[in-house]
Amino acid sequence: MLLSDKYPFLTNFFETAIGVGADSSQKRLSHSILLYGNDLDSQYTLALEIARLLNCTGDRSDNCQCLNCKWIREGKHPGVQTITRFHQDSKSKAKQSIPVEVVRSIVKSLVISNDYHKVFIFCDKDSDEDGAKIQGLNRFNFGEESANTLLKSTEEPFENVTFIFLARDREDLISTIVSRSQCFYVPTKERADFSYDKVEKVIANYWEIPRAEAFDFSERLMTAADENGAEVVLEQMQNYMLGVLKSNPGQRFLVDDIRSVELSKKELPLKMKPDTIFDELALKLIR
Ligand SMILES: [Zn+2]
Repeated sequence: MLLSDKYPFLTNFFETAIGVGADSSQKRLSHSILLYGNDLDSQYTLALEIARLLNCTGDRSDNCQCLNCKWIREGKHPGVQTITRFHQDSKSKAKQSIPVEVVRSIVKSLVISNDYHKVFIFCDKDSDEDGAKIQGLNRFNFGEESANTLLKSTEEPFENVTFIFLARDREDLISTIVSRSQCFYVPTKERADFSYDKVEKVIANYWEIPRAEAFDFSERLMTAADENGAEVVLEQMQNYMLGVLKSNPGQRFLVDDIRSVELSKKELPLKMKPDTIFDELALKLIR
């Protein structure tokens, strides 16, 4: 599926802002862009698309075969870099976060001009192996010192440099980055799957669990959340409930339960403690 079909509004916006459309005077693309939402893969694809539009020397179509577009598709464009805590320039062994020396070397490199529009995509990965999953930035993997070092260079932005930040939530980045960035919410378009293998042992027949065991239930959910992430656990709980509801449409309590889980999902990014969220949820589900 072409990106322009998946996100027509966003790709139209970027094309116009970058000057593909006829009316490019109204919109301008900032030198600092924040994409946020739960679908990090789509964010990353969009970021590459922005980099491609900024560098294309052809007709900028989805299938453009100019050298810049080809290089970006093959992941070897010299001006387009993905910066994660696994970045190879890093000398430090501890790779909990994007090291400040990596950011300093980026800032230094900005003064060297070349023919490219430099694009730095800041995000996280779950490992440094090929095929690692793209993850969002937060205050641990993109610490304040690194962020501030980068910010200094955006005070007087270079004409041919764009920074793109990927995150689940705007609040995951320090406010000075957010306030200086053009922020775009990237909606999740595809449910990855309807599996519930990570929670099945905990949630199977949960309506049979006696009320007195609600907090045990919550604890088991927390354990699953520690192992797989709270978002995955909540998503899979809903998958399970939807599955049961499909074969038992008369069980209306499931509709209420799916709503309760939805509420918990909304509370998660608000920085409520996951154990509080799971406790409250358990008390609603275990009647
Ligand atoms: Zn091109």
